[in-house]
Amino acid sequence: MTEGIQELKQLISFPKEVVIISHRNPDGDAVGSACGLALYLQKLHHNVKVIFPSEYTSKYNFIQGIRNSIVFDLDPNGARQAVDKAELIFCVDLNALDRIDKLGENVQFSKAKKVMIDHHLDPEPFVDVMISEVDASSTCELIFKVIDELGDRPKIDPIIGECLFTGIVSDTGSFKYATRSYTYEVAAILKEIGVDDYQLADRLFNQQKEKHLRLLGYCLANRLEVIKEYGVGIMWLSKADYMKFDIQRGDTEGIVNYILMIENVKVAALVLEQPTIVKISLRSKGDISVQDMVSKHFNGGGHKNAAGGSAYASLKDVLSKFRKILPEYLPKIDI
Ligand code: 5GP
Ligand code: MN
Repeated sequence: MTEGIQELKQLISFPKEVVIISHRNPDGDAVGSACGLALYLQKLHHNVKVIFPSEYTSKYNFIQGIRNSIVFDLDPNGARQAVDKAELIFCVDLNALDRIDKLGENVQFSKAKKVMIDHHLDPEPFVDVMISEVDASSTCELIFKVIDELGDRPKIDPIIGECLFTGIVSDTGSFKYATRSYTYEVAAILKEIGVDDYQLADRLFNQQKEKHLRLLGYCLANRLEVIKEYGVGIMWLSKADYMKFDIQRGDTEGIVNYILMIENVKVAALVLEQPTIVKISLRSKGDISVQDMVSKHFNGGGHKNAAGGSAYASLKDVLSKFRKILPEYLPKIDI
């Protein structure tokens, strides 16, 4: 039995005002775990509100219940009121309060009981019940496990299944990484109960805007630097690029993975000059921990092979700092 399940069982044993929060720039695992858990808790007659710190992209519109969620950036008062009213707060796919910005304070000082369900490294102990499993492919996989261990597998219907499958597919790059045998077991069960994985993949991956693919082409053609002696690939986008391509939230998702397709490249970086911060997204292969890199140098976190962070610095400074720290983490290759 996973640690925390018994306490969780007590906490949800009678209907409550519940808030579920996930991280900013919500990805498939964030929206899938938050909305999937919400649908389950609604079946137990809880009154549930889902909050995302910033907007989700329109490709997730099909996720059941997502349109009733509160986006803090668009409705800060609504989000604060929901948190203040809550008796029980879930943080899903979220391991640190600084990932929910200003809402973090409301959550920290709320009298509600707090539950974390997450799979990132180094979870912060700001909750009453921590269900953290870093070997889980995704928070969605872990939500399935939690509901199952609560004895409620029959409550997972195809709609909840679709939410959970979304997170598993997203965080494993369609079953290419971060999997364990249990990941496939969960996927098989979800397919068995009626999740249409073919339709889901089509919705998640084949509905891109033309400008998105043109942006990818631009990055590959003009913004790729390969540092062969360290097996590293870097891409960056400047504020001017953001204007030129009208880049919106979510448009850069997935681009960093292309860099890892290059032979001998073991670390990939995408550096984005956003309005107030410079964001860095890292991916790696095998034993190289990009989580170490971002937690030490870029105020970030994540997983061993996929992590992100940010800096209040210029694009140029972030790029040169990144190049400078490479020898700390990677052996020099003779070329
Ligand atoms: P991405 O590079 O796709 O934004 O994120 C990769 C992984 O790193 C995700 O699991 C994400 O939650 C985590 N991550 C991204 N940015 C940050 C950050 O600024 N701080 C922390 N703690 N984690 C991050
Ligand atoms: Mn995740």
